[in-house]
Amino acid sequence: MSGFLPDQQGAEVRVSPNFGPRRETLRPDMVVLHYTGMATGSAAEAWLCDPASEVSSHYLVHEDGRIVQMVRESDRAWHAGKSSWFGRTDINSCSVGIEIVNPGHTLGYPGFPRRQIEAVVGLCKGIIGRHSIAAQRVLAHSDIAPGRKIDPGEKFPWKALFAAGVGHLVPAAPVRRGAALKVGDAGAEVEALQSMLALYGYGVEISGVFDRQTEIVVEAFQRHFRPRLVDGIADGSTSSTLQSLLTSLRAVSSK
Ligand SMILES: [Zn+2]
Repeated sequence: MSGFLPDQQGAEVRVSPNFGPRRETLRPDMVVLHYTGMATGSAAEAWLCDPASEVSSHYLVHEDGRIVQMVRESDRAWHAGKSSWFGRTDINSCSVGIEIVNPGHTLGYPGFPRRQIEAVVGLCKGIIGRHSIAAQRVLAHSDIAPGRKIDPGEKFPWKALFAAGVGHLVPAAPVRRGAALKVGDAGAEVEALQSMLALYGYGVEISGVFDRQTEIVVEAFQRHFRPRLVDGIADGSTSSTLQSLLTSLRAVSSK
């Protein structure tokens, strides 16, 4: 007894009881990628379908590329938790959540197998096509919940997704020694950095003071867009990668 037909062709269905109706908006306009952070895929699948867990996602992608749908795309799954993007905080209502099986940082954090990533790409393309989701709205859980979440992490191959037509990315500027902004700094340059992060969507206060929250958001940005070095220090590479990301966004939206 499967419960519903999958939105994504080829997906298996295992119904999770953990969902509700989308609030305010009826259609998702964002995809949020996670890793499961549990020892095995089957344990994660069981957890996301356990009423006691009160968490779920629309999809789970196993290491072998098998896709399981647990919540209909039209419904609101419980995957994002306390989050924000462009000031919006009910991310569950406006997103489709994908849990990618990987034990995560506390359990060795292995790389993501190619078959699994190919399945994630196909799934994302399906979701993006069904809901006309913008490239820059395929995001990491860490992007929308900086400081609280670090998944799917710096090993997640955003480049491979982008090469296949999923997500928004620019080549990360090379890491070099030089001037950098860090905790304790203040002034116009910090304000400019915070403004750029906020302009991309990150939940950061534009105060002109490089505080712990700014550091946390810089780390989240690096984990997704400059994964070679995730240290919360806004070095030249971080700032210039952020700048080109915003420039390429303007190029995309003016087309
Ligand atoms: Zn997550």
